[in-house]
Amino acid sequence: MLQKKPLLSIVIPVFNEEESIGESVRRFLALRDSLLTELKLELLFVNDGSRDSSLSLLKSAADKDPDVKIISFSRNFGHQIAITAGIDLSSGDYVALIDADLQDPPELIADMYRLALTGYDVVYGKRRSRAGESLFKKATASAFYRFLNYMCEIEIPNDTGDFRLMSRKVVNAFTRLRERHRFVRGMVPWLGFRTAPLEYDRAERYAGTTKFPLRKMFAFAVNAILSFSRKPLTVAIQLGFFIIFMGLIFGAYLFYARLFTNTIIPGFATTLLCVIVFSGVQVMLIGVVGEYIARIFEEVQGRPLYLINETFNLVESVPKNDF
Ligand code: UDP
Ligand code: MG
Repeated sequence: MLQKKPLLSIVIPVFNEEESIGESVRRFLALRDSLLTELKLELLFVNDGSRDSSLSLLKSAADKDPDVKIISFSRNFGHQIAITAGIDLSSGDYVALIDADLQDPPELIADMYRLALTGYDVVYGKRRSRAGESLFKKATASAFYRFLNYMCEIEIPNDTGDFRLMSRKVVNAFTRLRERHRFVRGMVPWLGFRTAPLEYDRAERYAGTTKFPLRKMFAFAVNAILSFSRKPLTVAIQLGFFIIFMGLIFGAYLFYARLFTNTIIPGFATTLLCVIVFSGVQVMLIGVVGEYIARIFEEVQGRPLYLINETFNLVESVPKNDF
């Protein structure tokens, strides 16, 4: 009897990618054809509220080919949510995550799959080099990962993105994590399972511009730290103890100076400076605590992570885990 070919789902988030979408679809279909003997493929494009012609380009591709499937959101929910929806609605034995801009070569998914077959549940892409990215972006990215690993309890590999392949076992585990502030490249290592890196060279964007300007990158970094670590709170406590300690030393000095020397204790300016600096510290720390409370508030609201407007070529249109 002929053994059933395994199904591989490729999840591709799309936000205003009209310049690269045609080429993307072509490359992914070419990948499918080259793997025809080993695997079945489904291409799950998640249209994250694009305001250009991305969706209509995808629709015409989906009309021509049933393996091109589309999940279209009601608005822009962000990249991390888009890949979550793709994972939720995937039905493959393996699921790969990749961007639509072809910065990560689709052909590498085949290598990831073969590596997974040797006994791994997660194969993630590790960037050996990054073409066409500014020195500034590379330097900030590297500093960010170092800082993140210092702040977080779990190990997040350096120089990785969301480009990865996961087995069904991992995907099922992943769909049980429903937190709103998602940091997929940290959540997958949190799951555990046997993991292997696959090194590659990151290319330039095929066309168009990055959808992550510096402002969004910064928000992404802050979010990663706040949703993965309690360390900011621990640091706040440590800082408090440090300030008390300094205060005690200073107090002891004042006591000594008043009783045993003729030194005149400088008054107004010092007091004012202390008040200003420590009020600043306090307001800042209330802000940190507030960020955690805001996260609790958002989780308690319990809204769905995303809303789907329409789907194409998908049999199942309601995510299994949409609660
Ligand atoms: N993207 C998305 N929603 C967003 C922003 C980006 O789905 O709100 C998609 C985008 O279309 C691309 C991927 O996420 O496929 C990565 O975005 P981009 O290439 O702009 O990020 P970069 O590679 O510059 O970090
Ligand atoms: Mg990109």
